[in-house]
Amino acid sequence: MRELTLSELETIVSEVGEARYRARQVMHWLWRHQASSLEEMREVPARLRQYLAQNYRLGHLTVSHVAHAADGTRKLLFRLADGAGIEGVIIPTHDRTTLCISSQVGCAMACEFCATARMGLVRNLKASEILGQIIAASTQCTQAERLTNYVFMGMGEPLANYPNLARALTVMTAEWGLAVSPRRITVSTVGLAPVMERLLAEFPVNLAVSLHATSDELRNQLVPINRRYPLAHLLESCRQLPLGHRRRITFEYVMLQGVNDSPADAVRLARLVAPLKCKINLIFFNPFPGAPFQPTPRSRIEEFQAILLSRNLTATIRESRGAEIAAACGQLYAQARMPRSRLTGLNHCPSPSDTRETQPPTLL
Ligand code: SF4
Repeated sequence: MRELTLSELETIVSEVGEARYRARQVMHWLWRHQASSLEEMREVPARLRQYLAQNYRLGHLTVSHVAHAADGTRKLLFRLADGAGIEGVIIPTHDRTTLCISSQVGCAMACEFCATARMGLVRNLKASEILGQIIAASTQCTQAERLTNYVFMGMGEPLANYPNLARALTVMTAEWGLAVSPRRITVSTVGLAPVMERLLAEFPVNLAVSLHATSDELRNQLVPINRRYPLAHLLESCRQLPLGHRRRITFEYVMLQGVNDSPADAVRLARLVAPLKCKINLIFFNPFPGAPFQPTPRSRIEEFQAILLSRNLTATIRESRGAEIAAACGQLYAQARMPRSRLTGLNHCPSPSDTRETQPPTLL
């Protein structure tokens, strides 16, 4: 039921002979009160509640495990109705609380530095499952916390599940839904160029593009979608995006020791993105068991950053948050006793940093 738009719910309400304004009442309970049952919706007529209960489900996700990091970051394991598991991450900072959301069970993009990639794609999440993460995560917030920012950087490639992503964004940003400012939402992509344009034409959200390499040869290896949308194509698509005058793209760049972190890489990166309204987010790699890469040491990342800054680019280094609970994912899964094929990997899409409103720490 949480995937319905207001107009869809108004149609349903009318069809059962109730006044259309009842749909707004139901939406109010679903999103403002985050009701967990139809019985809670006191002013909604019993006949309508009964009809909805017989024909729709509220779409709750269960939080089956929570891993706490010393810095306040919490990794949540959500269990879906079919038994599959996905992860979300709550990241509190001094002025906001960010939720990292998954968009798929597994992922088909096969990025070489990503544990989730090893699962392959199990299935797309439904819009109700995307939104259900927000409701379920809210129950894990302390009294002083309130989710303020949302990043689609959990498991999966959001733009590969566009219809469900779009429906979820509609509900998130609608005044009858969660009423979240689009500027507090960031969608991260490995570079599905044609869908990026559609996303920004339909939703004025922030966009983060995972670059990670400065040559097609290396990017083909690290981010295989590059074979379909090579760097020149991707960057030209970025140049043509309808960003508006205030927004800029964030390019994510995970620092892999001896792979993409040389001064020559920094110079090439600067040349590639210089024509674009953008910022660069340099990300610490958080190794996982079997990962074929090592993280670049901080001093080398700072040298890399200095080269970008010297070319008048905006480049930030994102601290890794909750690294110890990412490392403990195996334990989380073991406790959950889920079949391996139904578990998510770590959250590996890098974090956004486009605006002050959307600067969560790095999850990688
Ligand atoms: S980094 Fe993101 S897009 Fe790439 S495989 Fe992992 S989850 Fe998929």
